[in-house]
Amino acid sequence: MARYIGPVCKLCRREQTKLFLKGDKCFTKCILEKRSTPPGAARPQRGKMSEYAVRLREKQKLRRMASMTERPFELLFEKASKATGKTGEALLQYLELRLDNVVKRLGFCLSLKTARQLVLHGHVRVNGKALNIPSYGIKPGDQVSLNPKLKENLAVKLGLEATEKRGIRPGFLEFNAGELSGKLLRMPTREEISFPIQEQLVVEYYSK
Ligand code: SF4
Repeated sequence: MARYIGPVCKLCRREQTKLFLKGDKCFTKCILEKRSTPPGAARPQRGKMSEYAVRLREKQKLRRMASMTERPFELLFEKASKATGKTGEALLQYLELRLDNVVKRLGFCLSLKTARQLVLHGHVRVNGKALNIPSYGIKPGDQVSLNPKLKENLAVKLGLEATEKRGIRPGFLEFNAGELSGKLLRMPTREEISFPIQEQLVVEYYSK
């Protein structure tokens, strides 16, 4: 399946929830607050959703928040189902610790899309080596840093300022503002993970 390149706010309207795909605008000018109907529908859907539909929508929400296509998401779920502990939590930890998500959570930018671009363009280093794989899984002890030349980049500046202002940098990451780098101290707990979904429904969707 090809990567979705259409208007992202439409995805939030489809899921009837904020997926936070647009960075700062999601906090200041969210379209969902003015226009909450699903795309293409004059009125919200009536009636109760089937059990299958509820699980499908939760899976779609998570996949869209993580900006992943169907097959890689399925493969990640398979990997999580073989991990020790709860499958849902393992899946969320894998998503949380993908390189693009760590770049966003460190505050180098405000959206996952920009984080992917920073990684793909070779501006991000892991343990001192440039790495252009957004899906790379960060492990405890790894250090993620940004090319110091980007210190004056507008998107980076806005990201750092907004993250500082909102105090949204998580406790499992140690941030070094002077070096524009961060270290993963430990695995994140469920409460620290940035995907507000019911992971059990996703597990049930794939267990059908
Ligand atoms: Fe979703 Fe952000 Fe658009 Fe709001 S502004 S609808 S949260 S992408």
